[in-house]
Formats: sequence, structure tokens, C-alpha cells
Amino acid sequence: MNQMFDPTRPDMLRSDLAAAPRRLLIDGAFHDAATGAVLDVIDPATGAVFAHAAAGGAEDIDRAVMAARRAFDDGRWTGTTPAQRQNLLLKLADLIERDAEELALLESMDNGMPFMMARFGGAMGAAGMLRYFAGWATKVTGETIEPSWPGEWLGYTRREPVGVVAAITPWNFPLAMEVGKLSAALAAGCTLVLKPAEQTPLSAVKLGELVCEAGFPDGVVNIVTGTGTEAGAPLVTHPGVDKVSFTGSTVVGQQILRESAATMKRVTLELGGKSPTFILSDADLARAIPAAAQGIFGNAGQVCAAGSRLFVHESVFDRVLEGIVERAQSLRVGAGLEPGTEMGPLVSAVQRDRVQGYIEAGRRAGVSLMTGGGTIGTEGYFIEPTVLIEPGADLSVTREEIFGPVLCAMRFGDDDIDALAARGNDTQYGLSSAIWTRDITAAHKLANRLKAGTVRINGSGPPDPALPLGGYKASGLGRENGRAGLEVFTELKTVTVSLN
Ligand code: ADP
Repeated sequence: MNQMFDPTRPDMLRSDLAAAPRRLLIDGAFHDAATGAVLDVIDPATGAVFAHAAAGGAEDIDRAVMAARRAFDDGRWTGTTPAQRQNLLLKLADLIERDAEELALLESMDNGMPFMMARFGGAMGAAGMLRYFAGWATKVTGETIEPSWPGEWLGYTRREPVGVVAAITPWNFPLAMEVGKLSAALAAGCTLVLKPAEQTPLSAVKLGELVCEAGFPDGVVNIVTGTGTEAGAPLVTHPGVDKVSFTGSTVVGQQILRESAATMKRVTLELGGKSPTFILSDADLARAIPAAAQGIFGNAGQVCAAGSRLFVHESVFDRVLEGIVERAQSLRVGAGLEPGTEMGPLVSAVQRDRVQGYIEAGRRAGVSLMTGGGTIGTEGYFIEPTVLIEPGADLSVTREEIFGPVLCAMRFGDDDIDALAARGNDTQYGLSSAIWTRDITAAHKLANRLKAGTVRINGSGPPDPALPLGGYKASGLGRENGRAGLEVFTELKTVTVSLN
């Protein structure tokens, strides 16, 4: 696989994992769940249970929130200097980098993603995220403002940490999502309770060990593994929580928004998408085709910003689809730890069945399938990279987020920007979009008209912590990353002083 990969490590890790369930990090110490309950951790490549993690519940959540509350209110964290917070975040980044291979192994076993993706995108991406937000810890600033009142006045704003944060994360990029929320919240001066997805608890527990090793004060970071209903729901409604930062499905995001209203929690939501890719007649196809394929087959399509709707000019439609189908059929699908794997299994049987259900619904509605559509093998949750041609605009495959390697490809007749934007925007979502054309006017006009939090013109790199990320419409509320992603963990206070 690569020089750093020691093939004996997975076996060592597996026996270590089998020896004891992973525990909850509360107030600087590891605990079993109060009820003693555990979650099964399943290898999506085989369907076998290979580890257990504590199944936290309301009592554990209460203890974790109270620990985070004390750590916030007694100044244990807010009382440190910005430079001290920066240094601790940098220390944690170094520890993640030191243990990147172990983190990647855990992530790959737990989620099924290819090891290299977990190693470089996941673990190294997490270290990069921490370093980026470590820089912000010393740059949280307000401004001075002069009011138009008679006499002499000083007005200024302060950005204060919002308080105790509930960070609830999904299973598609576990470590990256967890560290994304943790690093921004801590840089802003907040304390937190992290509730990772029940399907993928392992990298979060390892992250908790590294948090302790780095020397964060007790209670600043608490990690409670458990299900959405048993652990997530009591966290959202807990009166000790000031803000919820959630990444996951739109349905749960809406529920969280409703439930947060009673205690007026601040809420950031990063939700689903049905993101369009546009390939115009003059696009550089040699770059557009592999990017469009990667945009939907990367991480088996389990990506909120996946390019799941492809609009291609009719003059190049056949060539583009031929290229994408060729890629779909040649992708090496296998276990995340299998050398050379390019696409892993879906995370769970539930997710595989959900994706299969969409494909079947499309088939029943008469949609033609250019490739894929089936499952692969007899064990694990593998599904073929799938391309559907011209599904009707009202079908569930066209309208709903599938969260699997399923592409809907549609033709358009001329490069009319307003018509293209209308088709792209014909969705409840607005997370991301991609445009391929050499015409800079068309590209920028289309970028202006798309109702999406991100527009990528002629390619993009891996997620960058400096670039704000978030959705229009049902894709979310607020932004993560960049200055905007820091500010959502702050309250803005205005102070005025009479100098009269
Ligand atoms: P998916 O359906 O893809 O698993 P979810 O939105 O259900 O995505 O899950 C994302 C995260 O939200 C997970 O950590 C999950 O446990 C959590 N979650 C699910 N339901 C709730 C809920 N009612 N309240 C709080 N968190 C929840």
C-alpha cells in the first residue's frame, strides 16, 4: 500500500479492540456508560462485529455537560491565554500526526473508507484543521465603532466564546468532522461535548486519548459515544448546552433546530445535498470526466457535497458518459485495508439498503441504468458504482439525497445560463456545485446564479480549513471553516463608554 503501512498493525489493533470496549471521556477520565450498555462496532467490509464502544445515555450526557459547564464557567479554559490555547491545539495536531497511521487504520476498519483516504484526507486533514484553527485562537477580535451620539464616546465589540458546545457528527468522515468542530470551538474559547456517530465511534475515542495526552484541562473536551436517540437527543435538549453544531441528515437537523428553540440554543447545521455538476460544451473533458466521476464515487458517494446530479451539454454527453462509465466499471472496489482499494463498502447494512431502495425505485419508474445497480459479493455492504440516465425531474433518485455511489446524468441543449441555473437550483438543497467550461463569463454568471454554499469552477482540491463550508436552503444553517466557522462559536457583545 505504501511504505508507512505495516500490515501487522491491523491484527494488533483488532486484538486490542476485541479485548475491551472503548469508553467515554468525561471530565478528564475514561468511564463505562452508566448503564453498562455497549454498541457493536461493525466492519462494513464483512458485516462482522470487531469491537465495542460504550453506549452513552442521558445520565452520561448529563455528567459530560456538567463537566463542560464547570470547565467553561470556572475559567479553566477561558482563563487561559489565547497563546496557551493555540499551543494546546498545535500539540494535539502533532499527536494526531504522530498517530496518523493508527487513526487511519481505526477509521478505515470502522467506516470502510480506503486506508489512504483515511491516512491523508482524514488524519492529516485533521492535523491541518487543528493547526489552522490554532492560528485563530490568537486572532479573535472585535472592532471599534463610533456611535453618532452627541459628545465623545467609545464603542467597541468583543467576540466572546458562546459557552458549552454540543458537537454531533456523522459517520462519513468521522475524524475530520469531529476535529473540525472541536478545533473551531476550542479556538473560540468554548468547551464541548462531542457525540460521534454510533456507526463509527473508534477514531473519536482515540482522539479523546490524544486530548488527554496533550494536556487539555479536565472537562474541556468530553466525548460520549452512543446512539442519536439515547445520547444525541438528551444532549440537544440539555439546558447546560449553549450551542449545537450538527452535521448529518436534513431530517435530524430540522428536528434539532425545533428542539433547540425551547432553550434558544445557537445552532449550526451542515446537512444534506443534491449537488449539481455542469459540463458545458467547451469544457476540458480530460479533466472534467475524472473529476465528475470522483465527485460521486469518492468515499462511495457518502459525501454531503457529492456531485450527484450531472448536467452535460448534448454535444459532449456521450463522450462524458462513456468516460464516467469506464471509470465506474474499472474502480477497484474492496475493503478499506485491501491494498489498492479505490472505493470501499457503504458504512452499514441500513445505508446499503437505503441506496438499493433508491435504485430500485428508479428502476420501477423506468429509469435506464447505464452501469451498476447491484450489490457486490456476499459479505459486507458493497454496492456497484451506478449511473442513471435522464431520470424524471420528479423522481426520488433525482430529488433526494441518496448518499451512495449513484449518479443521475441529464442532457441540456444549449449553454443558456439562466436555464442551467434554474435546473441546478431545482432542489430543496444548496450545498455545493461544480462548473466545467473555458468561458469565464459563463462560469461566473452561473456561479452567481446558483443557490449553493460552494461553487467549484474547473476543479478543486481537498477540503481546506480556510474555506467556509455550508449550505443554502435545506443544506444547512451557518458555516464551518474559515473566519465564519470560528465566529459561529462566539457571541458578539457591544460595549459603549461615555467619555463625556
Ligand atoms: P444518518 O441517517 O446518515 O445516520 P443522522 O443525521 O441520523 O445521519 O446522524 C448524524 C448524527 O446525528 C449521528 O451522530 C447520530 O447519532 C445523531 N443523531 C441522530 N438522531 C439524533 C437526534 N434525534 N438528536 C440528536 N442527534 C441525533
